[in-house]
Amino acid sequence: MHIVVCVKQVPDTKIIKINPKTNTLDRRSAPAILNPYDAHAVQEAVKIKELTGGSISVLSMGPPQATAVIKKSIEIGADRGYLITDRAFAGADTLATSYALSKALERINKDHPVDMIICGKHAIDGDTGQVGPGIARRMDIPPVTNVIEVTEVNQKEKTVLLKRKLTNGYELIQSELPCLLTVEKEINEIEYSPMPNMIEAARYEPIIWAVSDLENVDRAQLGLKGSPTIVGKMFTPPRPEGGKKLEGSADEQVSQIMEVLMEKKDLFTLQPSK
Ligand SMILES: Cc1cc2nc3c(=O)[nH]c(=O)nc-3n(C[C@H](O)[C@H](O)[C@H](O)COP(=O)(O)OP(=O)(O)OC[C@H]3O[C@@H](n4cnc5c(N)ncnc54)[C@H](O)[C@@H]3O)c2cc1C
Repeated sequence: MHIVVCVKQVPDTKIIKINPKTNTLDRRSAPAILNPYDAHAVQEAVKIKELTGGSISVLSMGPPQATAVIKKSIEIGADRGYLITDRAFAGADTLATSYALSKALERINKDHPVDMIICGKHAIDGDTGQVGPGIARRMDIPPVTNVIEVTEVNQKEKTVLLKRKLTNGYELIQSELPCLLTVEKEINEIEYSPMPNMIEAARYEPIIWAVSDLENVDRAQLGLKGSPTIVGKMFTPPRPEGGKKLEGSADEQVSQIMEVLMEKKDLFTLQPSK
């Protein structure tokens, strides 16, 4: 079983600042981290490998500094990591990102046939959730999104049984292998990395590919040139106002609430009392 996990380096959006003048993210204001959903994707690959044997590769597209998320994935338990990095990839939207990643996956598949690809549900910066299904479409394999449990992997029949989150519950899906999963955070708990993994990660040198290392690439579909997405407007949504606090005695509070209700009476359909 060869599992490839796509991992993205993202700014830590819990502490990133917004430039109030340009309304864009000030990427220097926050450290770069492994996209949290992708950490769960790597952890799940480790769990599957414990049952089935085989190996785990991770793949990232990004600047040279993105080797950090590959090392972090090795720490969690991945066996090898690939970084595709080239100026030609810069400015990619989700269409161009999924194209570039699928070309790298084709090359990986040639060297080590791939049985399963795992992505995070979404990246916490771009937040579209489009890259996983985009890769599956380009590679002509089934995508199964919002997976919360890998219930069974049948290597003989080449199938996998998956629990998928729905708005009001879940569904069980059987898919053929190879397939692509996108995973939710509740799929597992990230475990503490054992010391040998940490030492291996510190020494690990990822395999680095430029566009020229990939085959049959249409350069017009890469980077900014291959990105039809246009940002129409960027703005910071206004903070929701806090609720009004009622003060005073019970009678005073009733009058206050009546005042509020009367101000908003047009929002309600008032029924005459009988
Ligand atoms: C309107 C808009 C404009 C943008 N403009 C720019 C721009 O000008 N310059 C720029 O650099 N970016 C830009 N981006 C961001 C860029 O499109 C995304 O970073 C990228 O395409 C991935 O999309 P996402 O973050 O929504 O990933 P999602 O689809 O949410 O990610 C899902 C999963 O796909 C995998 N994945 C995603 N990206 C990668 C990756 N790079 N490597 C490996 N795995 C990955 C991960 O497993 C991840 O969990 C823009 C995005 C939008 C929506």
